[in-house]
Formats: sequence, structure tokens, C-alpha cells
Amino acid sequence: MAAVASQDRSRAAAPEGAAALADLIAGSERAVVLTGAGISVPSGIPDFRSPGTGIWEGVDPMEVAHVDAWRNDPDRFWRFYGERFAALADKRPNRAHEVVAELERAGAIRGVITQNVDRLHRAAGSDNLLEIHGSIESSLCMQCGGRTAIDRVVEILASAPGAPECPACVYPLKPDVVLFGELLPRDVMAAAERLALEADLMICIGSSLSVHPAAGLPQLTLEAGGSLAIVTEGPTPLDDQATLKLDGDVVAELDAVGASLAAR
Ligand code: ZN
Repeated sequence: MAAVASQDRSRAAAPEGAAALADLIAGSERAVVLTGAGISVPSGIPDFRSPGTGIWEGVDPMEVAHVDAWRNDPDRFWRFYGERFAALADKRPNRAHEVVAELERAGAIRGVITQNVDRLHRAAGSDNLLEIHGSIESSLCMQCGGRTAIDRVVEILASAPGAPECPACVYPLKPDVVLFGELLPRDVMAAAERLALEADLMICIGSSLSVHPAAGLPQLTLEAGGSLAIVTEGPTPLDDQATLKLDGDVVAELDAVGASLAAR
């Protein structure tokens, strides 16, 4: 049994790679983590940039999740987006999210920048968290600026089809996420750029590093003299500039990194 388990493990995550990343983290003073959709796939959240499964099947995210779709026909927008809310609302963080939160608690990283809107880093206990694409945590009224929490939005969606309305002024709500066609929140992006510039190590997890401007953050770290580690299945444009690239399953890799650090 033990031999089988260890074989599975070595296929999923090369132990020497995880130990090398643990060394880099232990030797850094201002490490920061950047995560993308790949860290949430093991929690059952499909990456919509991968060929379609679930709710992204048969639709063009660029069209249905575009701010113009919300402006032009909020009821139609929410008929699609409401499904996404319902699908995300009950998802739980996985071991990779947990290790990232443990690293922050141990003082090994300064914070987490994420492209994900799924709240899973927060649920795992990450504290200094910059959600550069926003979060499904709340929905915003563009009329009065009021925010409505996801649990209430899901309740409203379940009781009435179409766009949920602001409880205060009956204006259709917009999810507090950055839709296609919208700019990233300026203050959050500025804080993320500062973290990236100051970092002596950026650890990119589960991101193809192909979507700008998030993909520019590791470039900032590199240009300022910091180093880069990548934990992502499949190639990224920055692989040849990374000090370390781990290609295995993201949960197995992070679990091994956490174990290696805990054993010191
Ligand atoms: Zn309102």
C-alpha cells in the first residue's frame, strides 16, 4: 500500500521540486503569491478558458459576462450569471488554498494576489488578499452604491428569475466582479503592483500568466530584481525566466511544499 501511495505521489508532484520551492520561500523575506483559475479547479470550479464544461459550455464568456450584456439586458445577464453564483456559492477551498493561507500565517509570504472571484482564499483564511478581478462576495448597486451579500443575492435569484434588485432603490444589481469590458479596480491594482515590485520572490500558482494586466505583475518582480517560481500545469510565457517551475498537480505540489516547510 505504502509503495503504491508513494508512486502516485511522485507522479503528481516531484518531491525534490517541492523541497526546492520550500528552500526559495525559506530564503526569501518579501515573498508574494499570485493565483489564477488553476488553484480552484480541484475545488470543482472549471477554468472557463479551458474548453467548456459546466456553465461555460456552449456560451462565449466574453459575450455573456460582458458589462454591455449587463447594461443592455440585466435580466438576461443574470439568467446566465445567476447560475454561476449558485455554482460557486457552495464551493470549498482545497489543500492548495489552505497551504497558501498557512504560509501567510507563518510569515513566509506577505500576501496573496488573485485573479479568482470565488472567495476560496478568504474561506481558507488568507488575510492580506488582493482580489484584482473582484469577488462574488457581494453585488453592487450602481445607483446608490449599496452592496448586497451573496447569500441574499442567491435567495433573491431563487425566488424570482431575472436581475436581483437593490433592496434600497430597486435598481438592478451588478456582481462585484470585474466583467469583460470593465477596468480593474485602481486601488487594488496599485496595491498589487506595489507588492509585486517589493517582492524578492513571486510564486505564481495555477495561472497561465496569459491574461493582462495580471500577467504583468511577475514582470514587475523580475524587473525589480526579484525571482519567480511557477506552480502551474502546462507552459506559461514566463517559464524560461522562472528560477523554478513545478508542473505537477497544484494540490499535490502545494501540499508537499507545506510539508517540507513544516518539517524544518
Ligand atoms: Zn441601490
